[in-house]
Amino acid sequence: MTPGTPDRGLGMGTLDMGMSVRLESLRHFEPRRDAAWQRLRAVQPAAYARSRNHLDGAATGLSPYITHGVLSLPEVLGAVLAGPGDAARLEVQHKLVYELGWRAYFQHVRARRGEAILQSLHPGLLPDEAYAPQVPDDVRQARTGVPVIDQAVRSLYACGHLHNHARLWLASYLVHLRKVHWRAGADWLIGHLLDGDVASNHLSWQWVAATGSHKPYLFNADNVARFAPPSWHSPGTPLDTDYATLEAVARDRAAMPVVAPTDDGVIEPPCSRRPPPQAGFTALADAPDRLAGDLAGRDVWLVHPWSLGRRPEALPAQAVPVGAVIDELHPQAWRDARWAFVAGLMEELGAARWHGSAADWSAALRTARSVHLVDDLHLGPAVQALLPPGPGAPAWFRHDPPALFAPVSADCASFSKWWAAATRGLQHAAQLPGLAATFCAHAGGPNVDTTLALPFDQVDGPIGSGRATWAADPLTDRPGSRLRHR
Ligand SMILES: Cc1cc2nc3c(=O)[nH]c(=O)nc-3n(C[C@H](O)[C@H](O)[C@H](O)COP(=O)(O)OP(=O)(O)OC[C@H]3O[C@@H](n4cnc5c(N)ncnc54)[C@H](O)[C@@H]3O)c2cc1C
Repeated sequence: MTPGTPDRGLGMGTLDMGMSVRLESLRHFEPRRDAAWQRLRAVQPAAYARSRNHLDGAATGLSPYITHGVLSLPEVLGAVLAGPGDAARLEVQHKLVYELGWRAYFQHVRARRGEAILQSLHPGLLPDEAYAPQVPDDVRQARTGVPVIDQAVRSLYACGHLHNHARLWLASYLVHLRKVHWRAGADWLIGHLLDGDVASNHLSWQWVAATGSHKPYLFNADNVARFAPPSWHSPGTPLDTDYATLEAVARDRAAMPVVAPTDDGVIEPPCSRRPPPQAGFTALADAPDRLAGDLAGRDVWLVHPWSLGRRPEALPAQAVPVGAVIDELHPQAWRDARWAFVAGLMEELGAARWHGSAADWSAALRTARSVHLVDDLHLGPAVQALLPPGPGAPAWFRHDPPALFAPVSADCASFSKWWAAATRGLQHAAQLPGLAATFCAHAGGPNVDTTLALPFDQVDGPIGSGRATWAADPLTDRPGSRLRHR
């Protein structure tokens, strides 16, 4: 094993001295809103479109903040359109808008199919049982002897993030060459990603495996040489071949033998379904009445791991934020670095951090006057059980997160169908409905003059004046309303 491997053992992710964190991953992705906005302001759409597929290209690195609700898609695109030059005239077909569309599309599929996305959506190249149920140790320890794979795993563990192209390579290698079931790969990868999102992750794996698309994603050593730095290049490995050969391998039940397993691998960071002690969460079970006492008669904002952004506009001014991890909502284990990332963002919002079962939460919240949360698909049905209606039960508000694209009611089996429906009739990105709701207010990030508005007069199309349409909720046509009262 290589000495100094990041996240080695339990020494990782220490949150002490006011959340100072000794983690390489958090040096890259700091758990602060202004760090997210700093990245956002650095986005260069033209360079992004040119170089996004290169490992050293101008990808945004925004995904951990987007997954955890620190930045919404309208905030991201709004800030980009407020950039210099003719950024405001970005076409809706621009590569960056398109990639944001992939995220929205995967959410669309998960909203429609629910838990069914955790199973193969349709048969792939081989029957499910032809694939192994576990990711092999040589891959987990980055000692396959195939440089592109070992580098990807090292990079994943070191940063808690992986470039999209590297995710594709890793998934394709595991499924089509090593014959690992896509679900095993997806469950393993998501635990190590700071941006781990069930819809984007599991559906991307299905896309690679051809259980969610109609052809497998395959790659060879030439592709790696074109898009990755030299240390990733993999000449002389089984990837050093043509696509016809790779396709034949993918359709064969036999797994590719390990090339030359090396001994100098890395230790896989541990993952857990509960926050580690150093993340500073108090177990509700250890202090059963304390939180209920603190919240008695108060308006409560339940700050869960997927809504770590700005306060919902409709929140009562005095609402007290409470950082909430609800055990039933964490079927996937996360590495300590992700727990630390979430804890840091909760701390920034002034939210004391608690964790417990849905039953513990139900007991703790019953004394509150009202409970608010921002919806997310990760919440699932378990959240419904938190506050059973009844005499004296607190009022229960679920706020919709801001959406960038118009809702598509048809069940779209392919991204292209969804994209056509979501962008029909639009030429400029500024015409997307979600921008009318948030763009003018937040285009410059936190603490900016909110009079800074998109120069809409430069943009042709239905949104003639940002201010005129901004107050209305484009999804419901109810002015300013994003609130659902259950
Ligand atoms: C096997 C596999 C697993 C993945 N797992 C996840 C995951 O758990 N969480 C996650 O957010 N993304 C996932 N992706 C999608 C994509 O790889 C990441 O969103 C992207 O690499 C994040 O880096 P970035 O912010 O620099 O992306 P950028 O290229 O800068 O894109 C900007 C934003 O657009 C969205 N986006 C870009 N590409 C995609 C895409 N292909 N699919 C969905 N959204 C996209 C993301 O929100 C991203 O932050 C996965 C892709 C693959 C192939």
